[in-house]
Amino acid sequence: MTFVTRPTLSSLSPSLEKYLKAIYDLQTEKGYTRVTDIAKALRVAKPAVSAAFKNLGLVGLIHHRAYEGVRLTEEGIQKAKGISGKFSILSQFFSEVLGVDKRKALEDAGLMEHYASGDTMDRLVDLLRFFEAEEQKGILEAFQEFRRECESEDTCVECDFHCEIVTQEPSESPEKKFTDRFLAK
Ligand SMILES: [Zn+2]
Repeated sequence: MTFVTRPTLSSLSPSLEKYLKAIYDLQTEKGYTRVTDIAKALRVAKPAVSAAFKNLGLVGLIHHRAYEGVRLTEEGIQKAKGISGKFSILSQFFSEVLGVDKRKALEDAGLMEHYASGDTMDRLVDLLRFFEAEEQKGILEAFQEFRRECESEDTCVECDFHCEIVTQEPSESPEKKFTDRFLAK
């Protein structure tokens, strides 16, 4: 027997957020969204999409009509725009401040947009605007040139934690697929 946690509007799971955003993107493009479109876009099985649609409907974010697909409610649109905003903030931060490669910035933003809190995002926007201010010119450039010299798999004297970053390439993820489409535009 499986226990299904009923979603609430304030705390959608990252997975449901992903669906919501995919619906938003397709609705913006075509005006409506069908199970098949989402299954294709997110590379998931149709029953999973139907389940997500049901849950999003329960919290009032989408209207679901048989044979017509789904449409976001006004609340759904606002929520999706919020997630979309987080994506833009994160990808800008990664590419413009951290200087991370554009593709990686988009992929990571696609993953982290579902987990980052509104408060942190808000300060991140402040940071982005801070670096743009005239009196701050030069700081960003100086940071982009900077590379730390330490790297330790034990507790590092300078960092006080293990600062050797283990890199692991993500496998074929929906984010990668999404990034491919995004870069192709
Ligand atoms: Zn260190």
